[in-house]
Amino acid sequence: MLPFARVTIIGLGLIGSSIAHAIRANMPTVRLTGHDADPDVRDTAIRLQLCDDIADTAGAAVIDADLVILCVPVGAMAAAAAALRDDLSPEAIVSDVGSCKEEVARVLVEALPGATIVPAHPVAGTERSGPEAGFATLFQGRWCIVTPIEGMPETATERVSDFWRKLGAEVDLMAPDHHDRVLAVTSHLPHLIAYTIVGTASDLEEVTQSEVIKYSAGGFRDFTRIAASDPTMWRDVFLSNREAVLDMLQRFSEDLSSLQRAIRWGKGDELFDLFTRTRAVRRSIIEQGQDDAAPDFGRSHE
Ligand code: NAP
Repeated sequence: MLPFARVTIIGLGLIGSSIAHAIRANMPTVRLTGHDADPDVRDTAIRLQLCDDIADTAGAAVIDADLVILCVPVGAMAAAAAALRDDLSPEAIVSDVGSCKEEVARVLVEALPGATIVPAHPVAGTERSGPEAGFATLFQGRWCIVTPIEGMPETATERVSDFWRKLGAEVDLMAPDHHDRVLAVTSHLPHLIAYTIVGTASDLEEVTQSEVIKYSAGGFRDFTRIAASDPTMWRDVFLSNREAVLDMLQRFSEDLSSLQRAIRWGKGDELFDLFTRTRAVRRSIIEQGQDDAAPDFGRSHE
């Protein structure tokens, strides 16, 4: 039994197009409609046959949907929700895939009074964006965190969870503010660090650009993959999850200062102990199937 029969995807970039591919692969009888604010993206979606229908307006896209998933940048959620409000069926469930949950939940409740809303965040992605970047297996074996809003029907949470399981994901339930703190440390802070390192390296006067690129295999290139992530998406993530990110950044700065001190005073034992602990973290991630040991970090670049 399928959780939904008519699904509409608003925003046909990396995540929206991956959901479309994954629905086709795992729930082929679902009637799939798509919409994107960008006419070029809509044309590409038609050419790729991502959906059964591509609608020119958000209203036309949602009119008979029983699940609507907003796959737009976090800062565009309010506008995307407002654009479909008048045409949404009262039976429809609205979900989203935004990387921050507390503010998105608030914005969606405000924009769609009376609607059934179940926010979610598939913790899966690549540094690419746009409708051609999507692929059907993006969510396979990855976590999707569903963050129910108090007062919304439990059956809606169950149906959205079931939907993500059918796309190959494993589902966890979390309070939105807890989600934002967990993701601040596991995703948002690492991106901020990568953006900083790549920025610093490209601003150094005494090392040339060509040397930075030539010797990047020493570690730098793994940061450049993360720092190549979509600028719009990440600008919005930091503005939306401001408090949790600033908190984690404060902790990080303190830890960085203590490492600085250990290096200055030649405290090799301190460095060795930390590096031993961090190595064990890497081992656990591989053991839990959240990455593999291949040198390119096992990421799919389809
Ligand atoms: P993306 O590839 O840039 O796609 C977003 C698409 O939404 C673009 O085509 C964009 O058009 C369109 N759009 C923007 N505003 C819109 C509106 N009001 N109505 C309809 N379409 C609109 O981004 P993505 O990587 O798929 O990310 C989408 C969401 O998923 C974000 O909220 C992000 O936080 C979340 N997420 C991303 C990842 C990841 O790794 N990328 C992972 C998990 C969750 P324009 O480009 O013309 O603005």
